[in-house]
Amino acid sequence: MFIYKQQNPWFESFKIQKDKDWPWIENAEEWSELVSKTLKGVLINNLVLLPSFLFIGALLNDYEPDYSFSLDGLPTAWTLLWQNYFCLVVEDVVSTIFHRLLHTSYLYKHVHKQHHTYTQAVGICAEYEHPLEYFLDGYLPLTISSALLGNRMHIVTYLIIACHRVIAATIEHSGYEFPFEPSELLPFKTSSRYHDYHHQGNINGNFGGGVVLSDFIMGYNKQYYAHLEREQIYKKKENSGKKDKNN
Ligand SMILES: [Zn+2]
Ligand SMILES: [Zn+2]
Repeated sequence: MFIYKQQNPWFESFKIQKDKDWPWIENAEEWSELVSKTLKGVLINNLVLLPSFLFIGALLNDYEPDYSFSLDGLPTAWTLLWQNYFCLVVEDVVSTIFHRLLHTSYLYKHVHKQHHTYTQAVGICAEYEHPLEYFLDGYLPLTISSALLGNRMHIVTYLIIACHRVIAATIEHSGYEFPFEPSELLPFKTSSRYHDYHHQGNINGNFGGGVVLSDFIMGYNKQYYAHLEREQIYKKKENSGKKDKNN
């Protein structure tokens, strides 16, 4: 919130929805109500639900650890990279399926609408999710992808990937698109603008949870790319108009 409140012109130049004010400027009263609801939701998800899911998972697994804890088997940079990307692709498939399901009318109205309260993504809304959504679209994708690797994955790798997902989700929901997001160096990675477009009202597309592959295969991101194309044509026209005026 510190970065947002500074209204630093350099940061603001990366704001995605430039034609719209930040929600706390638009309506301060509604915003403070939404923030307290969001903080409560995020705390419940992370301090109550997540430990419960992990405990039930361990119980179902007879307390046998899924991951390697061996001190000799600490991951190399290459292992970290390929396992991270493998999980990202599997998570994208799982997440796209569940996210699409959350956009069916009953589940949208009773579950997913909570996350879409934010029509302009802001960092803290990344985990503002109904408990069912937190399970389906937050907990399951990484659990399934890492379970596929079994004990080939080291616990250190798992923890690094889990941290990476939390940071990436916060950046993706930041409302800014920086030209230097390191996680976007990975091929086919989604960007903040990609997910922000989904929040803006493109509720029938851009379901992907990390990479654009499932959306591309299913044709869920056609509307987004058409929008980008229109935006570029508009910018070109605007620039050539400015040049004509200067000449
Ligand atoms: Zn979102
Ligand atoms: Zn959605």
